[in-house]
Amino acid sequence: MRIHTLFVFIIVGVVPLYLFSHVLLDNYKEKAVGDRFTQMQNQAVMLSNLMLPTGYLTLADVPEIDAEINRVAEFYQGRIVVVNNNLNIVEDTYGLYDENKYLISKEVIQCFNGSISKVHDEENNYLILTHPIIHTTEQQKVVVGAIVMNSSIKDIQSILAGMERRATIFILALTMFIVIFAIYFSGRLTKPLKKVVSSIDHLTEGYLDEGVSIKGYYEIEKISDSFNKMLSRMQKIENTRQEFVSNVSHELKTPITSIKVLAESLLMQENVPEEVYREFLVDISKEIERENDIINDLLSLVKLNKAAGEMNISSVNINELLEQILKRLRPLATKQGVEMIYESFRPVIAEVDEVKLSLAITNLIENAIKYNGPDGWVRVSLNADHKYFYIKVADSGIGIPEEAQDLIFERFYRVDKARSRESGGTGLGLAITKSVIQMHRGAIKVYSVEGEGTTFNVRIPLTYISQM
Ligand code: ADP
Repeated sequence: MRIHTLFVFIIVGVVPLYLFSHVLLDNYKEKAVGDRFTQMQNQAVMLSNLMLPTGYLTLADVPEIDAEINRVAEFYQGRIVVVNNNLNIVEDTYGLYDENKYLISKEVIQCFNGSISKVHDEENNYLILTHPIIHTTEQQKVVVGAIVMNSSIKDIQSILAGMERRATIFILALTMFIVIFAIYFSGRLTKPLKKVVSSIDHLTEGYLDEGVSIKGYYEIEKISDSFNKMLSRMQKIENTRQEFVSNVSHELKTPITSIKVLAESLLMQENVPEEVYREFLVDISKEIERENDIINDLLSLVKLNKAAGEMNISSVNINELLEQILKRLRPLATKQGVEMIYESFRPVIAEVDEVKLSLAITNLIENAIKYNGPDGWVRVSLNADHKYFYIKVADSGIGIPEEAQDLIFERFYRVDKARSRESGGTGLGLAITKSVIQMHRGAIKVYSVEGEGTTFNVRIPLTYISQM
């Protein structure tokens, strides 16, 4: 990113400046050459006007004109050659040709047709103007000779070179300034990102409790905000995990501690009667059964979490499913002296995972029986609309205190540990139920009044919505 910023600065700052100076210098050169040609043309007209009345072109010797031609040639640091209409060289400021020589060139021939030719010899830095000498009478214009005028443009070149030098120095200075500025600016721009990276590295090393605080650019602040949000979520997950692990070990240890105490107290006594042995072994066996229940519930919970994507969905007749569950639980209800009522308002077929949903609803009805009094009742009802089906499990049991209503879905939470334990509870049933309902994109709500009863409302979509 730093290198990119640097490049962008150089491209945006230096390249246009370079192109601009190039175009400017080219324009100057073009204009200077054009001006020089115009000046030369004026001089040629002036010299023609001098020559015409004197018979100079007919090889007459006019020293003043020679002097003037030499002066002009010198002024332009060039050479002037004058030819007459026989293409006879009348004057050559370099003195290389005399009157017996002829100058026959394309430009000179064109001159006798009345046209002016301008040639720019870029290689030798010369301008060559071939200008006709025109004798104008009242009736006509006659070309009587030609002036071939060379002018050095070294002066223009040296001005240009000076300008080029200055432009180069300016561009170099500006490039240096831009590079220094770009290094500084890109450093400032990437510094907060480096901070984010080092914070992430710090986290990777395990320091989860440290957030990132970056002030400066709005976007970077947003990144650090989102990052901190993600972090606090991770912390929550980590805390829940740690809490779960400690709860699991505690729950698994409790029956084992009981077994140990029971066994040790038997071992410490001598001549223990057989009935006492029996009694203690029955207790030990109960504790083993409890340990087994906890392990089984834990396994179903873990399996549910792991298999979140593995839903075994099929069209299930929910009325039949509820009837089956009630049939299975009827002996337990009878034992507790609890009456079970089932109401169905319409036949419901829904796309669900039958085994998982059956487990979830069984937990609810089992709780309604367990946390109930003698002569109590449990009412299970089923209803549906075009989108959802609704299962209601209401009981006339002991109810749940208001402050505990949010907590009962937490793993291992129990309002009354002793009562839960007595009825073989593990504190995992509602956690399993909630997890299953969420996997079906449903919702569960509890309404309860202590001492009067509890109602669980479950809502699940009729058509399964898979998670993308
Ligand atoms: P448990 O194995 O202890 O029954 P659950 O997760 O099924 O665990 O329930 C958590 C706690 O919520 C129970 O210990 C109990 O205190 C309370 N609870 C659940 N259902 C009922 C109910 N129908 N009536 C009263 N209390 C309930």
